[in-house]
Parts: sequence; C-alpha cells; structure tokens
Amino acid sequence: MTAIVLLGPPGAGKGTQAARIAERLNIPAISTGEIFRANMSEGTELGKRAKEYMERGEFVPDSVTNPMVKVRLSAPDTANGFLLDGYPRTLDQAHVLRDILAELGVSLDVVLEIQVDEDEVVARMLKRATEQNRSDDTEPVIRHRLEIYHELTEPMATYYADQDLLQVVDGRGSIDEVSERIFALLDGLNK
Ligand code: ADP
Repeated sequence: MTAIVLLGPPGAGKGTQAARIAERLNIPAISTGEIFRANMSEGTELGKRAKEYMERGEFVPDSVTNPMVKVRLSAPDTANGFLLDGYPRTLDQAHVLRDILAELGVSLDVVLEIQVDEDEVVARMLKRATEQNRSDDTEPVIRHRLEIYHELTEPMATYYADQDLLQVVDGRGSIDEVSERIFALLDGLNK
C-alpha cells in the first residue's frame, strides 16, 4: 500500500510524472483535473457543473470535488495504493482528505512537491495550450491559476511538512531527470 499526494504549480509536470510513478508502483494515478475534463467532454452533469469554473481558472466548488474524490478513492483499484494529482488544492480539501482516509483506514506515505519557477511554468503551459488546445491554458487564465496556487495551494505544503510527510523535488530539467529524482526519493523512503 502506497498513498501519495503530488503537489506543484500548474505546468510543473505533475500529470506526466504522476503517470510514471503510478506505472512504477502499480497504483492508479487519480487526477481531479482529468476527471473533470473527461466529464466535460462526455457532457455529464458533473462536467457541466465544473466547466464554467475551469474555464475561468477557478476551483470547482468543494461540494462537487470532495464527494467525487471520496467515491474515486473507494474504488477497488486503490487497494494497493494511489497517487493523487491535483487534490487536495486547499487546506480545507486537505482536511477533508484526512477524514476520507481515516474512514478508509489509510494513511498517507508521502507528499511530493514538484518545484518549478514561475517563468518556466508559464512557458510550459503556453506551449501545452497550443499542443492540447485546453480551454483553461490561455495566458490570463494561466496567470490567474498561478495566483490561486500561491495563495491557496502552496500554504498546504506547510501543513504536510508539519506532519513530516513533505518531500520537495526539483522540477527543472528533462522529464527523465525529474522522474529519476522522484524514483530515487521514493526508493529511499521504502528502505
Ligand atoms: P493543472 O495541474 O494544470 O492546474 P489540473 O488538470 O490539475 O491542471 O486542473 C485543471 C482545473 O480543474 C483547475 O484549474 C480547477 O478548475 C479544476 N480542479 C482540479 N482539481 C481541483 C480541486 N482539487 N479542487 C477544485 N478544482 C479543481
């Protein structure tokens, strides 16, 4: 059982690294952003509710997000563990996650924070915008998402650091370089 939370600004490469970690540890990577996008393209009720917030670069309300995560974490494929990408994003969500995990009898093993500076993440996201055509990747929306990140998500690192769960990873360099750093860190934890 390995329970991991991945933190980092939008554009830090969380999704890419999440897939690699998940494959290596044989656990599902659970991305709230991806669940919302999948629901949007399928036109579900959940997708319709999330759409307006996402397109403004704002958080989808907790009344939508928290129950969705609870249901997802209760699925049988998490028996071996899971990696959460994009959740929690606020201290309130971190508290909800604590309660969900307590109910499931699971404790977090590690919170990985991928650190990349602001200019680099803006550049990466603008590149991704042209490649993937994501409606929340325009420059003003990107800037807004980064502001929200600094204001609401970054302070959560302290919450996890206080519980001795936080591990910071340098997110600069190639995708492989960052993965190697993460794997070395995870291997070190399992000893
Ligand atoms: P990125 O990592 O680039 O920020 P995500 O795919 O994680 O992108 O999220 C995209 C959008 O989905 C967010 O800007 C937000 O609107 C919504 N979202 C994702 N996760 C959450 C969450 N935990 N709480 C509220 N909204 C969320």
